[in-house]
Amino acid sequence: MSRTVICPGSFDPVTLGHVDIIKRASKMFDKVIVAVLVNMDKTPSFTIDERISFLEEALKEAKVSNIEIVGFDGLLADYAKKRGATAVVKGLRAVSDFEYEFQMALTNRKLNPEFDTVFLTADAQNMYLSSSIVRQVASLGGDISNFVPACLYDKIYERLKK
Ligand code: ADP
Repeated sequence: MSRTVICPGSFDPVTLGHVDIIKRASKMFDKVIVAVLVNMDKTPSFTIDERISFLEEALKEAKVSNIEIVGFDGLLADYAKKRGATAVVKGLRAVSDFEYEFQMALTNRKLNPEFDTVFLTADAQNMYLSSSIVRQVASLGGDISNFVPACLYDKIYERLKK
């Protein structure tokens, strides 16, 4: 049986932490749907088209091929059912991620009992990394080369630098 999972997020912008989790998920499952949130609570720094095209470039550079990148809006549990996905894969960074992720995982299972959540521990060197840290560091002129895929460095840095 073919196993499809979903990696959801805002990816504003994609970081090396995201790429690591998606790549590891792609090795464990047959197909990974990377679902990029279209409507976010906050106005994103990058448009949905930019966030998707950055992911395409980053995952090509990382040689991840069994993926599909889609814009996504609505209830993840419903979307999973529609796409026949069995689980969502999330990266857990620090303990601070845990409570929210636990709540989301239980809610998703309540909404769709077939839909499970798989947590992968973040790589040690990405434990502190988030899109918002990338945005902050770049906007202050700091070096983000350890945080974002090499092929995207210029595009992300130029855009965020004030
Ligand atoms: P961020 O918190 O960076 O704004 P997103 O909402 O785009 O990230 O993240 C989507 C998912 O990617 C998160 O729920 C988390 O599972 C995973 N993730 C984000 N950053 C990392 C990281 N540095 N290491 C591992 N997983 C991460």
